[in-house]
Amino acid sequence: MSTVVSEKEVAVSKSGKTVVTSSCVAGEWISPGAGSQPIVNPANGETLSTLPYAGAAEVDRAARSAHQAWLAWREVPVVDRVQPLYRFKSLLEKHTREVAEILTRENGKTLDDALAEVRRGVQMIEVACGMPSLMMGDSLNDIAKGIDCRTIRQPIGVCAGITPFNFPAMVPLWMYPFAIATGNTFILKPSERVPMSPTRVVELLVEAGLPAGVIQLVHGGREVVEALLAHPLIRAISFVGSSAVARIVYREAAAHGKRVQALGGAKNHLVVMPDADLPQTVDAILGSAFGAAGQRCLAGSVLVPVGEVAEPLLDLLVKKATALRVGDGMESGVEVGPLVAADQKKRVLGYIEKGIAEGAKPLCDGRQVKADPAGSFLGPTVLDHVQPGSTVAREEIFGPVLSVVRAKTLDEAIALVNASEYGNTTTIYTRSGKAAREYQSRIEVGMVGVNMSVAAPMAFFPFAGWKNSFFGDLHAHGKDAVAFYTEQKVLMTRWF
Ligand code: NAD
Repeated sequence: MSTVVSEKEVAVSKSGKTVVTSSCVAGEWISPGAGSQPIVNPANGETLSTLPYAGAAEVDRAARSAHQAWLAWREVPVVDRVQPLYRFKSLLEKHTREVAEILTRENGKTLDDALAEVRRGVQMIEVACGMPSLMMGDSLNDIAKGIDCRTIRQPIGVCAGITPFNFPAMVPLWMYPFAIATGNTFILKPSERVPMSPTRVVELLVEAGLPAGVIQLVHGGREVVEALLAHPLIRAISFVGSSAVARIVYREAAAHGKRVQALGGAKNHLVVMPDADLPQTVDAILGSAFGAAGQRCLAGSVLVPVGEVAEPLLDLLVKKATALRVGDGMESGVEVGPLVAADQKKRVLGYIEKGIAEGAKPLCDGRQVKADPAGSFLGPTVLDHVQPGSTVAREEIFGPVLSVVRAKTLDEAIALVNASEYGNTTTIYTRSGKAAREYQSRIEVGMVGVNMSVAAPMAFFPFAGWKNSFFGDLHAHGKDAVAFYTEQKVLMTRWF
């Protein structure tokens, strides 16, 4: 049973004081009754809100109304379709701080990090507003005598997005601005761990004047995902999350005849050459490995010092990692917030224990951090002498833990990185153009940095990894998003 959320509740939500984590189905804000879950602030254990779960019935209603909305939306000229997105961009800019504060409270990342995330999201909308140019096709006259040919891109219908907990405001924006601007309608299923910030952002899009049904929001967990994957009116699925779930989503959605892009997990290597600029490199590594408490798909997770750089690098790294300030992300000066929830902290602790049991030596041990015991805090941890085949060298930990696997040469480092089942991102630190070029060319990874902290492609470039980090072919945002959310048609014309 769903209940409609009152105007008053929505107004409270808009004020940003209390966020009602309701679903938006067929143009109505509803509070579905298929179960619920408390939303907890990981910095202090405070309950922020309760998430009412939608079920298969709400997904069906959302899909049907999104399909109806699509029949009209696809007829709207693209120059008019982007107008609500321009207003949405302005609204999100105006509410950046409010959304970032909600994000910090539900996810734990520092406020600076949350502000940066929302700004990245705004950039997605900016790029999608360029859809009149981005959607253009090709044309060539006289492909044969008197015959002209051109391609056009048309929307595909109802698209759906399933998103993870670590970028709750930004990752949905990798998807729906592009889907909507190309003439589709969209159903979003955000992570049930952090539903408040994506809800607030969708509220802003509705406020921007999008016709009812073009954007819909269904909260919930696995049952909602399964209903989305199987629904016959949904034509495309965009997924971002762990590899295990990405693989299932890719398989199930494809089995139901849908187009799929499924971005998965990661195990990212940072390779440091003996000629690297050490102070700069250490700062970049700290941001990569411990920023957002290591809960980024682009977080550095394995440090590979090459040759004699290991000792001076680790000395400086450990000194600076130990000095990072751990605490509530709302407090200024805090550099490492809590993990998203207590179960995630338990999982990461398990990895640290396993690493040590497998022979790794902790150079700094985040288990000893001093912080609010009601929060899910864990300090930066550096595990040295990790063996290449061991668990903490291979599996995604998704916490502030850096495993050090030493290599003798660049060749050995490249072989080590290429042996990983993941291929999301990697960075090499060096002053040698030759080493950097060789690394970029030979490495089997989707996003490659040279002397970068986090090599995150911006909205106008595509984003995705290789191997088990990605299932599909067209990547997120950039021109790939335009191709993913459209069907290409070739028109050939001859006049007598
Ligand atoms: P997750 O896979 O647990 O959840 C992602 C989404 O899938 C959520 O909306 C969740 O409700 C749903 N889900 C979870 N289990 C499911 C199941 N069994 N069946 C159907 N749906 C299910 O991921 P998470 O813990 O929220 O996010 C962290 C993961 O996301 C990490 O592995 C991280 O590397 C990855 N990630 C990848 C990228 C990328 O660009 N490749 C970006 C961000 C996060």
